[in-house]
This record gives sequence, structure tokens and C-alpha cells, in this order.
Amino acid sequence: MKATSTRKELETVKGKLGDETDWGEVIASLFGPKQEWDAVGKFCLVQLDDLSKDEQTERVDNFDPTRLFDNNCPCCQPFLVKGAIVIYEPEAIHALRLGPKGTFEMAAFPVDRGSSKTASG
Ligand SMILES: [Zn+2]
Repeated sequence: MKATSTRKELETVKGKLGDETDWGEVIASLFGPKQEWDAVGKFCLVQLDDLSKDEQTERVDNFDPTRLFDNNCPCCQPFLVKGAIVIYEPEAIHALRLGPKGTFEMAAFPVDRGSSKTASG
């Protein structure tokens, strides 16, 4: 991944750290209580682009974190290990994971249509 930053302004959002992260609570804090999301293992998919319901379901069914995160990359590994919120937007995919003391770490992936190349770096 290329862009990683700690979002201090989101410090007030409280999620339980570790394996018992309450994604629903975190997502409600970030996107409002009406935001829909899907849990896939340790990952939580928030779809803000304009796919049809069927396409969204297919995306959730086919979600493979190793296509987004590179297990050989030190900055990607924590996302794979701890899980993350994956936010699909029209122009980019953002991944958000909880850092120490309630901070967030964000990774951005440009939307790469028609290719299954994994992110690296
Ligand atoms: Zn990386």
C-alpha cells in the first residue's frame, strides 16, 4: 500500500481493541447508525459505491482480503492479522483498522477495474 496515516481526529471513536472489535459500533460512529455493512470474518465491508444489491452480495461472497493486502508487506500485515473495515467508494477502496489508544490507521487503494493485481508496497 502507498498511503498510510494515523487519523488522530477520529480519536474519540471508541472501538474495543483486539479480536472483540465491535465493528457495528465503530461504523455507526463513522457513518451514522443507518449505514449497512457486511461482516466477512475479521473484516467488515462498507459499500458506498453504487453497485446493485446483487453485485454487493457477490462482492461480499467473493471477498478475499489477500487480494487487497499483501502478506509480505509490513504495513499490510496488521490489516490481515487484526482485520479491518474495508470501505468501497467509487474512486478508491479505503481500509481502516484500529490502532493503539483508539486511533485509526488508514490505507487507500485506487480502484483497479478489470485486474486482480494485489496491492503491494
Ligand atoms: Zn502494503
